[in-house]
Amino acid sequence: MEKITSLAKRRGFVYPSSEIYGGLAGVYDYGHYGVLLKENIKSEWWKSMVQLRDDVYGLDSAIFMHPQTWVASGHVGGFNDPQVDCRNCKSRYRADHILEGFGIPADKMPLDFLNTELDKLRAEKKLVCAKCGSADITPAKSFSMMVTSNLGSPVDSLTEENVMYLRPETCGGIYLEYKNTLDSLHPKLPFGIAQVGKAFRNEIAARQYIFRTREFEQMEMQYFHNPTQTKELYEMWKEVRWQWFLSLGIPAEKIRWYKHEKLAHYASDAYDIEYAYAFFGGSFKEVEGIHARGDWDLTQHAKFSGVSLDYFDEETKIRFVPHIMETSVGLGRLFLMFLDNAYTEVGEGDNTRVFLKFPPKLAPIKCAVFPLLKNKPELVAKAREVFALLRKDFMCEFDDNGNVGKRYRRQDEIGTPFCVTIDFDTLGETPALKDTVTIRDRDTGEQQRMSISELTNYIRSVIL
Ligand code: ATP
Repeated sequence: MEKITSLAKRRGFVYPSSEIYGGLAGVYDYGHYGVLLKENIKSEWWKSMVQLRDDVYGLDSAIFMHPQTWVASGHVGGFNDPQVDCRNCKSRYRADHILEGFGIPADKMPLDFLNTELDKLRAEKKLVCAKCGSADITPAKSFSMMVTSNLGSPVDSLTEENVMYLRPETCGGIYLEYKNTLDSLHPKLPFGIAQVGKAFRNEIAARQYIFRTREFEQMEMQYFHNPTQTKELYEMWKEVRWQWFLSLGIPAEKIRWYKHEKLAHYASDAYDIEYAYAFFGGSFKEVEGIHARGDWDLTQHAKFSGVSLDYFDEETKIRFVPHIMETSVGLGRLFLMFLDNAYTEVGEGDNTRVFLKFPPKLAPIKCAVFPLLKNKPELVAKAREVFALLRKDFMCEFDDNGNVGKRYRRQDEIGTPFCVTIDFDTLGETPALKDTVTIRDRDTGEQQRMSISELTNYIRSVIL
C-alpha cells in the first residue's frame, strides 16, 4: 500500500485533496499522469460500451436532479449504512465491515441482525476499536449516505421534500432520460444508455485511499429489455464485462465473480466482479456490479412522476415496462486496480527497477523523446523535431534532464512503454544509421534501432 500511494503522489498521479489545509478525508485529486490514466480507462470503457456497439447510446446527465428522483428510487428512505462509533477516540466504522472481518456475512443485513452479532463479539471481548483498542463501541445505527446541498433554497427552509441531493449514483439520470432517449432516437428494445460522471456518498469510513471516496466517478450502463430475454442478456453482459478486464491485461486468476445471496426485493440476479488487490494484502474486493434490476426503477419513476414509461412493442402490440440490467463500475477502483496490477519491481537492493507495466493503451505517456546529451544543440534540435512529429498522434514527453539512465527510471515509474533516444548516429555519424533512433521497450529494457519515419506506425501498432 505504502509503495503505491507514495509512488502515485511522488510521480503526480494522485494527491490527497486540500493537503495544505490538512487534507479532507475520503477525497482525492488526480494530478497530470492520474488524469491521463483516468481518461484512457474511460475511453476504453466508452469504446467497448458505446463506440463498438449498435445498441448503446451515450448520456451526460446533471448531478442535481429533482428531489423526488431519490424518494422514488428509495434512496431517501433507505440509502443507509450501519455505523458504530468508538466512544473513546470517536473513530467511526461500518458495522457490516467489522462483522465481515470476523467472517460473518453482513452485507445489506438488517440492523437487528448486525446488533445481535456485534453483541456476541462484545461478549467474547473481541469488539474493540481498531485505532485505540477501546471496547467502548456503540450499537449500530443507520447513517444516511445521501449528500445534501442548499441549491435553490436557504438552508433553514430545507425539508425532506425540497432538499437537493448530489446524486449518489449516475444511473438515476439514465432512468429519467429513458423516455427522451426513446422519443428522440427511437431505439428498439433491447438498448442501453451509458454515462460516466461524478457521484457523491457520505461514506462512514472512507479510509481506503481511492477505493472508497466520498466523491467519485462511476461508469454505468443501463440496458432496457423485454423480461423474456433477461436470462440470456444477463449472461451476455457478464461475459462482455469479464472480457473487458482480460483485454486490458488483468489476469483471470486475479478476478472472480461474487454472487449476491441476499438480493434487493426487485432484483433477479446480482454478481460483482472482484479483484485481488495486492494493495489490500491480496484480498478480493468489489470493482464492478452487474445486476438484473427487474422493472423496479421505471415503475417507481412512472408512479412518482405520473408519466408513463411504458414501451410499446410494434410487432407484438404489447405495452409493458421494460426491465433493466446494469453494469456499474467505479473509476477510482479501476484506477487502483490497474495501478496495483501494473506495479512491478525487478532486481534487488540498489539495483531494483520499479516500473508500471500498464497495457500501452492505458499508459499516460506513450513515448518519451530524449536527446542523448543536453549540451549538444544539434542533438536537442533533432530530438525536438522527433518530439513534434510524435506528439501530433500520441501523448509524448520531451526530457533532457540528467543522464539517460535517470530519464528511463522516471519514465518507467510513470509506465511509459517507449523511450526514443536521438544520438550521434541519428545525425549521420555512421552514415548508414542517419535518421534512425533507438527505441527502448519498458518491460524488457531492450533497445532496437528504427528509422524516424517508421516510429509513428510502430507505436500505433502496439498501442491500439
Ligand atoms: P460497497 O459495497 O463497496 O460500498 P456498493 O455495492 O455500495 O459498494 P454500488 O452502489 O453497487 O456499490 O456502486 C457501483 C460501483 O461504484 C461499485 O462497484 C464501485 O466500483 C463504485 N463505488 C461505489 N461506492 C464507491 C465509493 N464510495 N468510492 C469509490 N467507488 C465507489
